[in-house]
Amino acid sequence: MKKPKLSKEALEAYKALMNLSEEEQKLVFRKISQPEPAETVQEPPKEKENCPHCGSSHVSRYGKTPAGYQRFICVDCRKTFGVKERPVWIGSHFPKEVWIEYMRLMNTGATLKDLAEALHINVTTAFHWRHKILTALKDGKSDAVLEEHTQADETFTYLNTKGNKNASNNLHMHKPTNRAPDYKSVRKSGHRHGRGSCSSTRGLNQGFVCTPLAIGGNEICWGRPSNMGAPSSSDLDSVYTGHLGETVILVTDASRAAGKYAQEKELPIIQLKSATESRQGKYNLQKVNKLHSAFKQDLARFNGVSTKYLENYANLTIFKQETPSISGIARATLLVEKLSNVPRVARWKELRNIDYPSFVYEVLDMNETSENEVST
Ligand SMILES: [Zn+2]
Repeated sequence: MKKPKLSKEALEAYKALMNLSEEEQKLVFRKISQPEPAETVQEPPKEKENCPHCGSSHVSRYGKTPAGYQRFICVDCRKTFGVKERPVWIGSHFPKEVWIEYMRLMNTGATLKDLAEALHINVTTAFHWRHKILTALKDGKSDAVLEEHTQADETFTYLNTKGNKNASNNLHMHKPTNRAPDYKSVRKSGHRHGRGSCSSTRGLNQGFVCTPLAIGGNEICWGRPSNMGAPSSSDLDSVYTGHLGETVILVTDASRAAGKYAQEKELPIIQLKSATESRQGKYNLQKVNKLHSAFKQDLARFNGVSTKYLENYANLTIFKQETPSISGIARATLLVEKLSNVPRVARWKELRNIDYPSFVYEVLDMNETSENEVST
């Protein structure tokens, strides 16, 4: 039998060991035979709440609430209750710190790829986090009320059907399915255009998504995509209803829809007759115009945004508008604070299956009979 031979290094280690005192040798042997436990990540304390009904600490997990939060049941009084703190990262497999770093980077304009690399997360995860965050921002705005002189105007963006309907196949979560790409169902001509843009009709037309945005005298902003093409007074109503306070005086351009809307709702309105007037007069549309440019800049920064997600991005722009002249870090901190207790956390499945606003389809149905292909 061949005798195992010690390597040079091992021989040197042996010699060095033999030079140690007996006490030191014992310590070394003990160290070798009991390897140090692998560095354990301190688990964050699980949110364990006391029963709000009877104060008992004898509670156990009891499924989830419809909003996706952990629900508890009190073993003593059998009543159920939810968690108090409801951060957007609740239920995530990643600790809060990763999310906070995500929000900080997101604020500096990091792309999904940047975020995925920096935080060692999947690009798909990065995408879903972005929309969990944006959805929470949107939900947090649902009680926005604008007051006093409120500049209101619409901005228009291309209908964008960017996105890969078959991307979910790559996740290997189910049998691969082949769905037609979005532009086939959403675009009138069924032709693909760069970045999924649609511009097959002319003028201020049905190929554009209209997003009414408004900024109140109290600096509160509100808005979301409402329709395709020029808005009607009822389109404006669908966006602004419930968000204009008692003291609102609308300041708008000379659009008929705005005038009609104000008349129907008996709202005081100042309609500016010309572009010059809306720039220079005592009442103007400067603030809302600035908001529109910021919105478009944000969309460009994200490399073209699918119309599916337009509302989410509008809320990012609004968030930035409402926190002006603070540093990126301060804004990130504010974002984290804002998202530490949100009314609802969007679920993964919901984000994955998010659909176009219904108005996109309504326009398609309307145009189906007068299909007329125009290449642009
Ligand atoms: Zn109880």
